[in-house]
Amino acid sequence: MTIDRREFLRRSGFGLAATLAGLSGARAAAPSSARGARVVVVGAGFGGAVCAKYIRMWDPNIEVTLIEANDRFVSCPMSNWVIGGIRSVDELVKSYDQLPRNHGIRMVHDTVVGVDADKRRVLTRRGDSYAYDRLVLAPGIDFMTELIEGYDVAESHGKVTHAFRAGPRTALLRKQLEAMPDGGVFVIASPPPPGRCVSGPYERACMAAHYFKQHKPRSKIIMLDGHFDVVSKGPMFKAAWKKFYPGMIEHRPNNLAVKVDHTTMTVSSEFEDVKGDVINVVPMMRAAKLCDTVGVRTDSQNRWCPVDGATFESTAIPGIHVIGDSVLSNIPKSAHVSNNQAKICAAAIVDLLNGREPNPAPIIGSTSYSATSDHTAGPIAVVMRYDPKQKSYIRQPGGGASPECDELNFAYNLAWFENIWADTLT
Ligand SMILES: Cc1cc2nc3c(=O)[nH]c(=O)nc-3n(C[C@H](O)[C@H](O)[C@H](O)COP(=O)(O)OP(=O)(O)OC[C@H]3O[C@@H](n4cnc5c(N)ncnc54)[C@H](O)[C@@H]3O)c2cc1C
Repeated sequence: MTIDRREFLRRSGFGLAATLAGLSGARAAAPSSARGARVVVVGAGFGGAVCAKYIRMWDPNIEVTLIEANDRFVSCPMSNWVIGGIRSVDELVKSYDQLPRNHGIRMVHDTVVGVDADKRRVLTRRGDSYAYDRLVLAPGIDFMTELIEGYDVAESHGKVTHAFRAGPRTALLRKQLEAMPDGGVFVIASPPPPGRCVSGPYERACMAAHYFKQHKPRSKIIMLDGHFDVVSKGPMFKAAWKKFYPGMIEHRPNNLAVKVDHTTMTVSSEFEDVKGDVINVVPMMRAAKLCDTVGVRTDSQNRWCPVDGATFESTAIPGIHVIGDSVLSNIPKSAHVSNNQAKICAAAIVDLLNGREPNPAPIIGSTSYSATSDHTAGPIAVVMRYDPKQKSYIRQPGGGASPECDELNFAYNLAWFENIWADTLT
């Protein structure tokens, strides 16, 4: 099959971030000495799927195996819109059919249970093993539910959920809000950063308020925030709450949830007990369990995976790269950032397997929109460059968050969803 340049750019989502990985046409055309080299990527989310694809695009001589536990892709971005009733859960679910076909990736649906780093082999639940020269781990996050007394029991009874991994939990939270009486109280408890999508809980409050305004206008939302202020896009969210939902959303900072009692529907922080008709508690997060099993979740709190910021190679185990939400860094944990990291990591792996030096100072762009109603959203956009001396990504001048939301940014948000899904899955 032949494709023209416009179609190539559309399919590859080049406009999104490829240039940010510091790539040039020369790289794509460079002769390869990596024939037969094997890369295994674990996790086909916003990080892993993109990394697998771009390694194949930039050096088709490299064999790529992508191992993913789920049969279908479910998007966290847009999942708050389901909670607000402006989209359905079905719209979050996407097929994995095209990605392996379009790029010659071997895709395996299985769960990785371990890695033999000495023999360079990945082991799966079904008992298979896959050899690699370079391994990329992109398994996302797990929740530290053990830090909230009663959370696991409450969730097992279907009474409380975090809905921070999209799918059945998103549908459950939506159902709970539909069943809530007018005049009810919806409690959202959010953790302090770092964690996945720090603006997610505030967008969720907007979406729930949008729904209540139309169907249950006497209802209230209490936000128990584990942080001292709105973590991201603060002025924009506060202005939107005041303008669109006056008196409906109460934000209580410095209020980390430590206990949930589903029998009395109460969330407790260090300072107060709050009763709700619907309770949505988002626990603190850490890199997925697999990272601990493999031995790359090695920061001082055993939460995140330290990496070399230029290649995303683990500082604990050579030959293993970690990308996406699992990484220890000062960069936001978002789909957009995972996408950028995936491309930087793919470029570095292609270089390393071809005996070339990777770019020592790559650039990451982070753009994120939050919807404040069914027709308005507010943006933030920042650019960071890796400084090899400081071993850190440094924010570049310019950029930032808009203090206001509007209809144009809602349109941009919709386009962003379509673009990142296309870049991830086709
Ligand atoms: C409500 C909400 C809204 C959000 N909105 C936005 C947004 O608007 N913009 C934005 O940029 N970001 C948004 N995010 C954040 C975004 O979803 C995450 O940052 C992103 O999904 C991280 O990508 P990842 O590849 O690291 O992990 P994931 O996307 O979670 O992918 C990890 C994959 O690994 C697989 N996996 C895990 N363990 C194994 C294993 N052992 N074996 C095989 N497979 C495994 C999982 O099944 C999963 O498919 C939002 C998040 C939430 C919760």
